[in-house]
Amino acid sequence: MSRASSLAAVMVTGLCLIPCVSGQTGSDPSTICRWRDNARGAYTLTFDDGTKGQWECAVPVLNRRGFRGTFYVVGSSVEAWWDGSGRLHMRELLDMMGEGHEIGSHTYTHLDLRALTEAQIQQEMEKSIQTLSRYGVQVTSVAYPFGTCEDRVKAIVGQYVEFARGGRPVVVSSDWTQVDPLNLGLLNGSDHYASLQAASLLDAWAIDVFHTIGEGYLSESDFEQFVDALVPLRDAHELWVDTLTSIALYIRERGFAQLRSETTNDGRNIRVILAVDANCPSPLVPLTVQTDISGRYLKSINQVDCSIGFRISQVGEQRSVIYDMLPNAGPVYIELTDGDDAQTPDSSGSSGTTSDNISAIPSPARASSEGRPWVAQTAASGSLRSLP
Ligand SMILES: [Zn+2]
Repeated sequence: MSRASSLAAVMVTGLCLIPCVSGQTGSDPSTICRWRDNARGAYTLTFDDGTKGQWECAVPVLNRRGFRGTFYVVGSSVEAWWDGSGRLHMRELLDMMGEGHEIGSHTYTHLDLRALTEAQIQQEMEKSIQTLSRYGVQVTSVAYPFGTCEDRVKAIVGQYVEFARGGRPVVVSSDWTQVDPLNLGLLNGSDHYASLQAASLLDAWAIDVFHTIGEGYLSESDFEQFVDALVPLRDAHELWVDTLTSIALYIRERGFAQLRSETTNDGRNIRVILAVDANCPSPLVPLTVQTDISGRYLKSINQVDCSIGFRISQVGEQRSVIYDMLPNAGPVYIELTDGDDAQTPDSSGSSGTTSDNISAIPSPARASSEGRPWVAQTAASGSLRSLP
């Protein structure tokens, strides 16, 4: 199916799609990628109600393929001491958390928050979060029961968590200014494949929802088949699959980030500076940066004397290096070469391919990097200017 017809297929499913805003910065060779690893889109698997089937079927399937999900549990049920409750127990949640999954709140008793008073909503939030925090689970996101919320509810819930998954049938934009962190989009319905299409075709974030697995709603084999479909998309850097909070932190931080590249006159060394404003309200996470190195090859890349992981992307004539960069933690230095002493396998000559290299690369001496005559390329004019 062509990309255009695929897009049409997504549109007719009734999904409301928000356009994304480009993060390109003119002539600067470096840009902050929309999604981690410069994926085309992002995708989150969320699981509601904390059912045993999620533990018994979904978690092993996700673990075997290296995916992490977000599980929204009802606080009143996680301490049940009897077998047969059909709900996830705290001991299982702790195992899941240790495996990298996110545990979020689905309130304490799963009531429609719109029908409750302010004090009742506060109680739903407090008891849920306190129950989980007693076991070391730090809750950063909530899924509204029934996917329902309103401004009054959001204002109260926002006193307790940073992010909430709402019930609007939307694909969330990667532009934080278009994102309501307390009503993040949810794709209603059971067509999970349409969610994948929406994310990868529209450079967007699809937040999908599952309930129990293997008990009539969705068979274990169907779920496994679906997760298998995620693997090639992840491996081809089409989709970034991660927890709700991980992706929300990334796109929010992008909104507070500024990136600048400086290049030596001979074009062989690039210094990349990534700064995140102090107003960014959450802990800093690495952002993925893409730097155009067309015409040359990568010799080394490091940040603060440490070599960093990267991959090379070659699309037509454009060659770029893609890497995760910690903000406010010193520049990334990229050393380029004409080829003879390139220290990475490259994909020169092929189109649209990438190669990965996460092996250690010797770092250039810090003193020689600092001594180079750096110039910056400005996004506005594209002209070169000297830096102090
Ligand atoms: Zn629910």
